[in-house]
Amino acid sequence: MPESQLIRHANKLYENGWMAGTSGNLSVRTEDGFRITPSGKHKGELSVSDLVLLPSSGVLPTGLPHRPSAEISLHQSIYRNCPDARAVYHVHTVEATVVSEWARSGSLELPPLEMLKGFGWKGGEPSPVLPVFSNHPDVRDIAANLETFFRRKREFLLPGFLIRLHGLTVWGESPDAAFKHVELFDFLFRFMVLSRSVSL
Ligand SMILES: [Zn+2]
Repeated sequence: MPESQLIRHANKLYENGWMAGTSGNLSVRTEDGFRITPSGKHKGELSVSDLVLLPSSGVLPTGLPHRPSAEISLHQSIYRNCPDARAVYHVHTVEATVVSEWARSGSLELPPLEMLKGFGWKGGEPSPVLPVFSNHPDVRDIAANLETFFRRKREFLLPGFLIRLHGLTVWGESPDAAFKHVELFDFLFRFMVLSRSVSL
């Protein structure tokens, strides 16, 4: 069941320090819309019943026991524009936050590491770049920039993006794929941070 996978992943991501202080949010697409982690709840202590359903209509029912994540607009935009996305994971890792500062003109060039093959990258081609969006106090403003990116038919070379000094968002065709993508990006970001620090 995708919801159970999401809960398992929330625990793992929390244990890795990538969802500290109730930060981050995970969602899975379901037949009736998508289910997302609640706002303000510890990600290491969630159960399936804590997940909030956002119906396909996009309108949240009133009187819900939990509020959905405040970053729900990012998830909505991805599901709307990426038909293959079945899960969207948004995490705050230290290294993702550090490398987001290294972006030039809104994108970050990734090193041509073997790990990129986990995304289907063949090697021997120019390294992919990752979009980096500006952070805003109101997440809907970040989601508006993401919508503009999609509308302009700008292509995501990899299933993810960064928000500057904020965190990483990925998607996948299953919860397991989204989890793998978080791990792959984390490896790349840790390599980038470490390789800069040892060359000082
Ligand atoms: Zn966030």
